[in-house]
Amino acid sequence: VSALHVIRTVAEMQAASDDMRRAGRRIGLVPTMGYLHEGHQSLIRRIRRDADRVVVSVFVNPTQFGPSEDLASYPRDLSRDIALIAESGGDIVFAPEAEDVYPDGFSTSVSVKGLSGVLDGASRPGHFDGVATVVAKLFACVRPHSAVFGQKDAQQVAVIRRMTADLNMGVEILVCPTVREADGLAKSSRNIYLTPDERSESGVLFQALQAAENHLRAGEADAGDLEAIMVEKIRCHPVAELDYAVVRDAETLGEVKEVRHPALAAVAARFGKSRLIDNLVLFPADRADS
Ligand code: AMP
Repeated sequence: VSALHVIRTVAEMQAASDDMRRAGRRIGLVPTMGYLHEGHQSLIRRIRRDADRVVVSVFVNPTQFGPSEDLASYPRDLSRDIALIAESGGDIVFAPEAEDVYPDGFSTSVSVKGLSGVLDGASRPGHFDGVATVVAKLFACVRPHSAVFGQKDAQQVAVIRRMTADLNMGVEILVCPTVREADGLAKSSRNIYLTPDERSESGVLFQALQAAENHLRAGEADAGDLEAIMVEKIRCHPVAELDYAVVRDAETLGEVKEVRHPALAAVAARFGKSRLIDNLVLFPADRADS
């Protein structure tokens, strides 16, 4: 078992990547903002099966936070993360400083038009430009053959897939299922912000998604009706302040009338200071059990 290697600079990461590529290694990347939980660990285990060298980046990217968002209070604990990464099978932790990633004079932005402006992009202006830009930079620092992302952030997956294809980045994009708490709440580093009341109500997001899935299985394929079912479920919980509950095309995130192809049921709501998101891929009735 080789020891976990912690790299703190872009230059050192690029040199290590060159060495690994020269040695014929397949490099897999797991981009994270740290404060790891079982969702992140499932990504590390997944890419371990695909790659000979697993790089986990830990970087709280300032450019994807809005001015009124939680950049300053975002939870951080690098030594705990390093231990969890070692335990899950990572080889390299890449944890650069913000000044190294965004030095004075930095002025480039990667913007995936259309996909970035809807749903979470509408509520968080600039968020997906920040995400696309930092992932493009992480790809340029690590030069991975593959990278893995969580289905929990479905819009992020759509944006990254589009960017990687449009810019011929040559990185294979893998996606892992959402890891949940016992009551269905999607695991998130931000869940620690929830008060006990908010936490006990937050399972409603997954319940709303499941209600939509159940109605689809029972033959209700109209997207508007499925959306109404989710809205109604969430509205029963006054602590949840609904942002959106929608059924969209799984790839383009465009509106659909009926679930005839795999579609994305996606919800977002504010619980006090925390904004929670979740989603479920809906398969048309004849494929519901596949
Ligand atoms: P984050 O550190 O929150 O930026 O997340 C890093 C990666 O982990 C992203 O690809 C997320 O989609 C993924 N991720 C976060 N939470 C979960 C979860 N509960 N299940 C699966 N993947 C997740």
